[in-house]
Amino acid sequence: MKRNILLNPGPATTTDTVKQAQVVPDICPREQEFGQIMADISHDLLKIVHADPKEYSAVLFCGSGTLCMDVCVNSLVPQGKKILFVNNGAYSSRAVDIAKAYGLDYIDLNFPVDGLPDLAKVADVLERESDIAVVYTTHQETGTGILNPIREIGALAHNHGAVFIVDTTSTLAMLPIDIESENIDFCMASAQKGIQAMTGLSYVIGRTAIIEESRDYPVRSYYCNLYLQYDYFRKNGQMHFTPPVQTIYSVQQALKEYFAEGEQVKWQRHQAAMAEIHKGLQELGLREVIPLEIQSGLVAAVAYPDTPQWDFDRVHDYCYERGFTIYPGKMQNQGTFRLCVLGAITADDIKAFFAVFQQALRA
Ligand SMILES: *Cc1c(COP(=O)(O)O)cnc(C)c1O
Repeated sequence: MKRNILLNPGPATTTDTVKQAQVVPDICPREQEFGQIMADISHDLLKIVHADPKEYSAVLFCGSGTLCMDVCVNSLVPQGKKILFVNNGAYSSRAVDIAKAYGLDYIDLNFPVDGLPDLAKVADVLERESDIAVVYTTHQETGTGILNPIREIGALAHNHGAVFIVDTTSTLAMLPIDIESENIDFCMASAQKGIQAMTGLSYVIGRTAIIEESRDYPVRSYYCNLYLQYDYFRKNGQMHFTPPVQTIYSVQQALKEYFAEGEQVKWQRHQAAMAEIHKGLQELGLREVIPLEIQSGLVAAVAYPDTPQWDFDRVHDYCYERGFTIYPGKMQNQGTFRLCVLGAITADDIKAFFAVFQQALRA
């Protein structure tokens, strides 16, 4: 099969074995055999973030990553309480939009998209507002590649008795995460990113005791409610509604490959690929807009070159025709594009990319 190198922020490049794992005999997902695959996947997901199965549960959903943002925001805010968003980018803004859509009482604590949130301001809001039951932020703001200080934000949330939700969609299974020491109560991801499987399965990993408590919270969505999905799987060993059957086979294979590669080796592979991106950009005199110290190491946001000849679409098309996908930026005030290293790619793939990218610029 033709191998495309996806430098977009997910879906990511997958291995042939993961692609082929989807081609299986037809099966009704209500069979016990299939329920067991989902139970094993849930168990493996806990392992990835080093979560104690006595304390945490993984709850599977059918949909893309945004579905889990929706689930966490709509399911974990008790009646009459508020959710505080620590927002320095497009993905936290998306979570704010979800809160708005559900008519939740929320505080959108906004920070510039090219820097870290000011923790003193977060502490200040938590001090002033008494009704905040949930604090939400994004681990890596995928639009810029900024890595947020979740451990510190989580500590502030916990000091005020609030539940801490982190969108880890673009870090989980890439950057090593220890759920408990990072102060995470709930995190989430989707199969097409860190674990290098297919789009269609997403998951919330969170504290079982809090999920149980949320049984008494308002049910704001029928399809996307955390407690209902958790409870149905616990009682029946099945998702409530039809799961993405073939995607789940790809996830089973991808998890096998994840554990075979190993957490640290995989992270080193991503870092080596990103080091090659930094080097390639520097050689071309292209500027990254986020300081290295606050980057995740998974996404580079690159300023458009200051020349009237620059044309992102033409460069994209040139690279795309040769098997490399680059991606537009997500910063309102300046033109940027992104180079990401989420998938089953190596430093050598990035070297090959820069050879093509240079030709594209010359053309
Ligand atoms: C990719 C991503 C999502 C989910 O996006 P979908 O297009 O719904 O899969 C959510 N949060 C972050 C931080 C992401 O990078």
